[in-house]
Amino acid sequence: NRNDKNNMNTSTNSAHLKVDLGERSYPIEIGTGLLKDVKLLSRTIKGKRLAIITNDVVAPLYLDKLTASLKEAGKEVISIVLPDGEKEKNWESLMRIFDFLMENKCDRKTTLVALGGGVIGDMTGYAAASFMRGVPFVQVPTTLLAEVDSSVGGKTGINHPLGKNMIGAFYQPEAVLADTSTLNTLPDKELSAGLAEVIKYGPIIDAKFFDWIERNIGKLLGRDSVALAYAIKRSCEIKADIVRQDERESGIRALLNFGHTFGHAIEAGLGYGKWLHGEAVGCGMVMAADLSCRMGLLDEVSRDRIRNLVEKAGLPTVAPDLGNDCWIGLMEVDKKNVGGEIQFVLLKSIGSAFVTRVPQNLLLETLKACTV
Ligand code: NAD
Ligand code: MG
Repeated sequence: NRNDKNNMNTSTNSAHLKVDLGERSYPIEIGTGLLKDVKLLSRTIKGKRLAIITNDVVAPLYLDKLTASLKEAGKEVISIVLPDGEKEKNWESLMRIFDFLMENKCDRKTTLVALGGGVIGDMTGYAAASFMRGVPFVQVPTTLLAEVDSSVGGKTGINHPLGKNMIGAFYQPEAVLADTSTLNTLPDKELSAGLAEVIKYGPIIDAKFFDWIERNIGKLLGRDSVALAYAIKRSCEIKADIVRQDERESGIRALLNFGHTFGHAIEAGLGYGKWLHGEAVGCGMVMAADLSCRMGLLDEVSRDRIRNLVEKAGLPTVAPDLGNDCWIGLMEVDKKNVGGEIQFVLLKSIGSAFVTRVPQNLLLETLKACTV
C-alpha cells in the first residue's frame, strides 16, 4: 500500500516516505523491482523528455532495463555513460554532462535522471541545479550508500582537488526511487561502505536503531532483503526528518557529518578513490568517538561498541598516517568550520550528538591513537 504515508510493508519490502519541504516536497519510494515498475515510474517522473546520467559500471547492469521501462511509460529517453569513480566527480565530468545536454538540444523541461551511486547522484544533481539555471531531476540510487544517504536531501556537487564536495548546490530532486534489487550486484566492499552511513544514524540520533544494527549486522552483511529494506527505510526516515528541519545546514543537519571531518581528510589526503567514502566515514566515526571519550563526553563502553560495530561491518577502524600537519590542514578546509576553527560532531552518548571545537592537544592524542 504505497499511498500510506511512512508505511512499511515487510512482506513486499517496500516503503513510501516523503521529504516534507513545502512546495519542494518529494517522495522516496523503496522496493524491489522499481526499475521495471512502469506505473510507478510514470507516476513519479513528471517530465516527458528524460536524460539519464550513469557510468560504465552501472550502465551494462541497469541502463537498458530502466530505458525500456521509461519508454513503456511514454517517455523520450537519451543517456550518457561517464567513466566510473570518485576521482571522476570533477569539473571535467560536469562539463561532459553539459556538452551532452547542449548537443541533444535539451531544454528547461528535460528531466535529468541519476542512475548510479552517490558520485553519479551528486554530479547529476549539480548539473540539474545549474543547467539553464535549474531543470528537474530524479534520483535512482543503486548503491546502499546512495539509497540510505546521498540521494536524499538535496546536497549536490563535485570535488575540488583541495577539498571534498567543495563546489555544489542545495537542489532537491523531484523523486527518489530506490530499487533494492540493484544491491544484489553490489561488491561486498561497497555494501560495507553503505553500512557506514547506516550506522551513522544510530550514534547521532537513534540509540534504538544502533541496537537494532548491532543485532542485525550479520543479516545486513548477508544481504537479507527484509533487514536491508528496514535499514534503508529507517535511514531515509531519519534523514528526511533532519532535512525537513534544516534543509541548508544551519543547525541540526550538521550532525549527519558525524565521522566526516576525519573521513574527508582521509579521502582527500590519500587521493580520492583510494579509500571509499564509506570506509573513510567508518574510520572517521571511530576517531570521533575516541575524541568524544578524551573530551570526557562519551563513556568507553559506548566508544568500544561503535568501534566494534564498524569493524564487524567490514570497515577500517585505523586511519592512515597523513602526518599531523596534513590532517589539520585538510580538516581546516571543512565546510562546517567557522572563522578557521575546525568543528567536530562529537557524542555525549550513543543517540546524542552535537557540534563543537576541540582543544588541539586532545585532537593530537586522537590522531596518534587512531592511526597506524
Ligand atoms: P559510487 O557512486 O562511486 O558507487 C560505488 C561503486 O559501485 C562505483 O564503482 C559504482 O559504479 C558501483 N555501482 C553502483 N551501483 C552498483 C550496482 N548496483 N551494482 C554494482 N556496482 C554498482 O559511490 P557511493 O558510495 O554510492 O557514493 C559515494 C559518494 O556519495 C561520495 O562522493 C560522497 O561524497 C557522496 N555522498 C553524498 C551525500 C549527499 O548528501 N549528497 C551523502 C553521502 C555521500
Ligand atoms: Mg557521507
